[in-house]
Formats: sequence, C-alpha cells, structure tokens
Amino acid sequence: MKPETTAIHIPNKRRDGAVAPSIHLSTTFDHGPANERPFGYEYIRGGNPNVDDLEERLTAIEGGIGAVAFSSGMAAVSAILNALSSGSRVLIHKDVYFDLRTLALLKLPYSNYTAEFLDFNDEVAFADALDGDVSLIWFESPSNPLLELVDIKRVCGSAASVGAKTLIDGTFATPALQRPLELGADYVLHSLTKYLGGHSDVQGGALVIRDDALIVDKLIQIRTLTGGVLAPFNAWMISRGIQTLHCRMERHCANALIIAKMLEGRDEVERVRYPFLPSSPDYELARKQMSGGGGMVSFEVRGGRDAAIKVASKLSLFVNATSLGGVESLIEHRASVEGEGTTTPQNLLRMSIGLENPQDLVADLVQALSAL
Ligand code: PLP
Repeated sequence: MKPETTAIHIPNKRRDGAVAPSIHLSTTFDHGPANERPFGYEYIRGGNPNVDDLEERLTAIEGGIGAVAFSSGMAAVSAILNALSSGSRVLIHKDVYFDLRTLALLKLPYSNYTAEFLDFNDEVAFADALDGDVSLIWFESPSNPLLELVDIKRVCGSAASVGAKTLIDGTFATPALQRPLELGADYVLHSLTKYLGGHSDVQGGALVIRDDALIVDKLIQIRTLTGGVLAPFNAWMISRGIQTLHCRMERHCANALIIAKMLEGRDEVERVRYPFLPSSPDYELARKQMSGGGGMVSFEVRGGRDAAIKVASKLSLFVNATSLGGVESLIEHRASVEGEGTTTPQNLLRMSIGLENPQDLVADLVQALSAL
C-alpha cells in the first residue's frame, strides 16, 4: 500500500460500521468483577479507542513497531527524557525548538540527564562529543527556526556504533516528506499540533518507535502515571488531519518553493532559508533524505530587527502568530517570541506557508517588502 492510502485506510476498524469513526468520550469502561477487560479498556488515562486508532495510524505511516501519543509535543519530549536512566548524557543539535532547549537546560531537582548542545554538522566536534557515555542523540531536521538539515543516516550510523539512541523531531518534515526510521533513527517525535492536525485547532504529540518494544511499554507506563494523555476528541481530530496530510503537504511544498524563490530575488532580503532552494547549502542532502522541502520558510531582512518587524507589521494576509502547519499562512519574528536567551538572528522572520493561492501570498509579501 502506498503512503497516501495507508494514511487514509489504516486503521480500518469500523467498530460499529461507521465509516467515519465514532468518538469514545467515556472515562471508564465496563469490566469484570476481577478487572477482566471484555472490551479491552479500563480507565481513560490507561487507554482509549480513538488514541489507539491514532497510534496505529502513526505507526503505519512512519513504519515503526509502535507509537505513543501524548497531550502535546512537549509532553512527548518530557516522557522520553523521563525514560532515560539516571546520569544519562544527551547530545542535542544547536538549533532546536526553543522550549526544548529551555527544558533541557532547566536543572530540575530530579533531572536524570545532562544536555550538551553542539553543531551536528561540525563532524569533528560531533565525533569528539560522541562516546560510549552518550545515551541519546537529539535533533530536528529541518530545524526550528533556521531550517538547517542534519544528515540523518550519517548521525544515526555514528550513534549506533557507540550504542547511543537517536531521536529525530520530524515535526517540520512530517512522515509525508521524510521517514527517519528507515534512515536509522530509533525514535521519531512529532508535535501533532502542527501539520498532522493540520488546521491550527488541536494539540497533541507522539513518539514513534523503530524496533524497541520495551521503550513503547515504558512510555505508556510513564504517560499513564504522569497523566500527559491525549484527549479522545483530539485523537479523533488528528487522525482526521492525517488522512489529508499527503495532499496538503504537496501544496505546502509547492507554495513554499514559489515564495522562497521570489524572496531570493528581492533586494530587501539578505538570506532565504529553504532546503529545496537549489542555492541552499543543504540542497543535495535535502534531495537525498526528503521528498519535498516542506511548508516552512525563514528569511533574514536587510536592515536588522526593525526592518524585519516592519515587514511583519505590513502584511495583511499572513497572520502574525506563532505555531505552524495549518491551512493559513503565519509569520513571526522568532527572536521576539523566544525572548531572553534566544540565539535566532534578530532580522529573521519565520513563515508557515499555508494552502492559499501562492500569487496572493507573493503579492502580500511584495507589498510589505516594498514598504521598507
Ligand atoms: N517540536 C517542534 C519542532 C516544535 O516546533 C514544537 C512546537 O512548536 C514542539 C516540538 C512542541 O510541540 P507542542 O507545542 O505540541 O507541545
């Protein structure tokens, strides 16, 4: 079965004959006098049919052995960090989602790991940092917000040679454009709040596991005991989103490439960051490990912070808002959103390119840039 078909048809439960699955809101299920489970479920924190359906769908589209869904991407992040043994070393690529950086550097009294940030594309520095003490290697590709790629096959191969596990946050690429488990990653993380939900109206997160059944069980146990459980309605919404993922990603990619090319030709723009631009330093790698560049485009405006904010303020179709992956185009001055401690260039604007007609988006950007 091809991926688009899998996304629509797996799972194909039709428990009660309904083609669109029913939503099971019940928090508790009929069980036998000695907690026998004739219907397979007991209590909502431990399991729910809509969450199970979503996990089956995620497992199928990523090609893993199991998936565990959470109430948000950050709940998935916390669960896998909680699963580390005490004293673990975690290596993280220097450009990652700001809240992950903040969490990883927060020295909580019960922190069971230490995080080290470095440039995974500096092969010498990476080789120096990697030794048998490292438990987990963590990166996003493309990264948020610089849209840097990391060679998944290279990094996963090196990690495996010293017994370290690898986690790829695939939120920007989605399983429609990149399949990290096939390239050697142990875990893929998604903020389901973004492209998989697809409509800026639902929050969720998930981890998909390549081949380790023990970690699937451990993550389920952590989720059940710490309570970062995905609500049934959210699971249902995200499953519905995934059914149109491939279709939407085609349009996100096409629109983003048109916009990236247009921006590259503008004098007001210092640098455009989009992996499928032939001028991108990551172009060759992008063509190797992705089937499309995705819907995220970042660019740096000539004239610094004030010029970037002026461009953002002049747009009328693009909404100034955080997050990404919905049908509508968004823009944000990422350094302002990240605040204290940001390493994002002050003249950078990050866009989530939506599904509008690309000419309308181009016209909006052109008028905003022309106002500088
Ligand atoms: N990973 C990436 C790359 C993100 O951009 C985000 C959120 O923006 C997250 C993880 C966290 O996801 P959530 O907001 O669903 O907790």
